[in-house]
Formats: sequence, C-alpha cells, structure tokens
Amino acid sequence: MEYLNREKEQFKNFFEAEGVNDINARVKVLELFLQSKQHITSDELTEIAVKNGDFFSKSFVEDTLNLMCKFGFASKNRFDNNGDIKYEHKHLGRHHDHIICVKCQKIVEFNNEDIEYLQMKVAAANDFYILQHKMEIYGICSACLKKRPKIISLAMAKAGERLIVKDVIGGIKVKMRILTMGLKMGDEIEIITNYGRGELVIAAGHNRLMLGQGMADKIFAEPIT
Ligand SMILES: [Zn+2]
Ligand SMILES: [Zn+2]
Ligand SMILES: [Zn+2]
Repeated sequence: MEYLNREKEQFKNFFEAEGVNDINARVKVLELFLQSKQHITSDELTEIAVKNGDFFSKSFVEDTLNLMCKFGFASKNRFDNNGDIKYEHKHLGRHHDHIICVKCQKIVEFNNEDIEYLQMKVAAANDFYILQHKMEIYGICSACLKKRPKIISLAMAKAGERLIVKDVIGGIKVKMRILTMGLKMGDEIEIITNYGRGELVIAAGHNRLMLGQGMADKIFAEPIT
C-alpha cells in the first residue's frame, strides 16, 4: 500500500508539472494498472476499468499508459511473436528478463545472476560498459508441449524449431514436387520463418525453401526435443 501511494504521489507531481489534463482520472488508471497483472495490453486494462465502473475510453487508457512509460512508471514491449503491445510495471531498482511461449503467449519473468554477469563480461570484452539490455527467450511451455501431437504439419511448426520430415500426404504429384525441391523423408529441417499466414521458409542443409500454405499443410514432421 505504501508503494502504491508513493507511486501515485510521484505520478501526480509529474503530471501537474507537465500540465497534463484529467489528472484524477489518470491516477485512477495508474491505480488499476499497478494492481493488475504484469504484461497487460491497453485493451485489457480498459476492460478492467469498465468492470470497475470507470468508463474510460480505450484511447484515454492507452494515452495514460504511454505517459506512464514516458515518466518511468511503466515500460512497453511488443514480444515479437504477438502483435499486441504489452505494458508492465517499472519497479525502481528491480530488473527482470522474459521467457515467452510462442503458442499460448504465456510470459514468465526471471532474473538470473549468472546471465547478468556474463552479459557484463561480454560487453566488457568488447570494450563496452553495459547500460541496459533486454533478454527474451522464446520457447514452448510444458503445458503446450504436452498438448502437441508427436508429428505436426509444417504449418504448425514455429520459427526456430528443428524437425525431422516424416510423412507427406497427398498424391504422387505432391511427393514428386517435394522431391524436386530437394526434400526427402528423414531430412532434418529448421523453420526459418512462419508468420502463420500460410507461407513459410525452411532450411534444409544449406538450402532455403519457400513453402506455400498448401505444401506446409501436407508435409508432416517430428519436432526434435
Ligand atoms: Zn537481464
Ligand atoms: Zn504455452
Ligand atoms: Zn516483465
């Protein structure tokens, strides 16, 4: 509670000094933000406000969140597997990094002293004094992994994933086309890009292959874990 009051006080002072309008309503947004979960979108926060009986518009909430970022009360991040901008509390003196599930978008925060130290060492070895950094690890959480079939179509595979080609569905024509592309059963491949819009690029050895949606749906492979 003391923390909340202190943040509110500082926030108000900044806003008054900057001549920002609707200060009381903005403080209310700050309050809801500080009481909400980490990594929230402006839409989610607007929903919380409405549920709470405060009918702020989406643009007012977003504008206030951006002011919070400007004044150092929040930071925003577009974790790159998802188009939504997420806001999180900026606690002074506390640093954390993120692990993100590319399937369910779950975000886990961590702070590892060894990693922090190694980054400092890497910077120093390159004649840098480190000021800040961002570390994001992308993966698949164990809950999503459990739900996943052993063999998946390439359309379902995620960037960075390595797989063994196991099966091709469709007639002889499809099989021939895949062979002429230089791909065969048992080949190890890596997904280079898959934006979920049908087209993906894979690496097979030193070759990059572009697959359309139709092809990506027909090739089945087993993820290497
Ligand atoms: Zn870190
Ligand atoms: Zn997940
Ligand atoms: Zn975070």
